[in-house]
Amino acid sequence: MKKHNFSAGPCILPQEVFKEASEAILNYNNSGLSIIEISHRSKDFVDVMEDARSLALELLGLEGKGYKALFLQGGASTQFLMVAYNFLQSKAGYLNTGSWSDKAIKEAKLYGEVIEIASSKESNFNYIPKGYTVPKGLDYLHCTSNNTIFGTQMKEFPEVDTPLICDMSSDIFSRQLDFSKFGLIYAGAQKNMGPAGTTLVVIKEDILGKIERQIPSMLDYQVHISKASMFNTPPVFAVYTSMLTLKWLKNLGGIDVIEEKNEKKAKLIYSEIDLNPLFKGFAAKEDRSTMNATFTLVNEDLKETFETMCKEAGINGVNGHRSVGGYRASMYNAMNIDSVATLVDVMSDLERKA
Ligand SMILES: *Cc1c(COP(=O)(O)O)cnc(C)c1O
Repeated sequence: MKKHNFSAGPCILPQEVFKEASEAILNYNNSGLSIIEISHRSKDFVDVMEDARSLALELLGLEGKGYKALFLQGGASTQFLMVAYNFLQSKAGYLNTGSWSDKAIKEAKLYGEVIEIASSKESNFNYIPKGYTVPKGLDYLHCTSNNTIFGTQMKEFPEVDTPLICDMSSDIFSRQLDFSKFGLIYAGAQKNMGPAGTTLVVIKEDILGKIERQIPSMLDYQVHISKASMFNTPPVFAVYTSMLTLKWLKNLGGIDVIEEKNEKKAKLIYSEIDLNPLFKGFAAKEDRSTMNATFTLVNEDLKETFETMCKEAGINGVNGHRSVGGYRASMYNAMNIDSVATLVDVMSDLERKA
C-alpha cells in the first residue's frame, strides 16, 4: 500500500511523475535507450534541459523579464557559497530565520562582511523577525522564504534597493509571489520539485558581472548561463524528473491552483493543532508555513501510542527535526488533502482515546 508520505525532503512527488520517470529509465520515448544512458549533448536530453529551464521561468511568471534558469549541482548548500562568491564585494545583509540561513551566513563570512539584519535565533527560530530596517549600501540582501525545520514562512519580503536573494528550497512553486522582486532565487529540487541531485537557480542577468574577484568556472553563474546549464555533465535524471514535475504543475493550472490546494491542507492541519488539547503548535501563528507544520505533544507519555497509530494509518515521515523535536508534517505540492485528513483523523482519534 502506498504510504502517506510527510517526509521533509527528499519527499513526495506526483505518482504520475514516478511512473513516467520509471518508464524513462527503461526506455525513453521508445528510443530503445534509457534516459540515463544517453549523451547529455543528444537532442533528446538538450530538449529536456530546455523544457525544464523554460517551464521554471514560465511558472514563476519570469519569461521575457531578463531572467535565466539553471539546473546546477551541489545542493542549496553550494548556493550559500556561490551567492557570496558572485555578489559579495564588501558587505551583504542576511535575515537569520533558521538553521539554513545560519549556514548561509557562515559561508558568506568567508568572502566579506555579513550584517545580520534580524534574527530569531534566541527563540529557536519559532517566528519571522519583523520591523527591522535594512541599511543602505549592501551588495545584496539574503533571506529564506520557508524554514523547513522550524515550520515558519515569510509572508512579506522587504523592499530593498539592492538585489534580493532568496533560498526558496522548501516552498518554491507552492504559492504566488511577485518573483520579479528577486534578483536571484535558488532551491534544492528535493523539497518540492524533483529528486535530490539538482538545484534550480533563477537569476536576473543584470545583477551579474559586478564583482572584482576571479571566479572558478564551476562557481561562476555567467559560465553556466553562457553554456545553457550544460557547462559540465548535468544530473540528467534529476533534471528530467524535475521537468516532469514542472509539467505536471503546469497541466494542473500552475501556481495559482496549487496555492489554493496548499492553503486548504494547511488550514486543515493547523485547525486540528489548535483545537486538539493534546497538541501544541511550534511556530508563531502568523508565521506558520503552509509547507511544513511543526507541533509537539503536550503530554510526552502519549508518544508511543501516537506514533503507533500513525504507523498503522500508513503515515510516514512525521518525526520532527532533532533541533525542534516533536512532529513535522511536510505537505508539499504533490500531497493530496486526503493524506492530511488521514493524519488529522489520527490526531483526533488520539484525543478520543486519551
Ligand atoms: C533542505 C534545505 C537546504 C539544503 O539543501 P541541500 O540541497 O541539502 O544542500 C537549504 N535551504 C533550505 C530552506 C532547505 O530546506
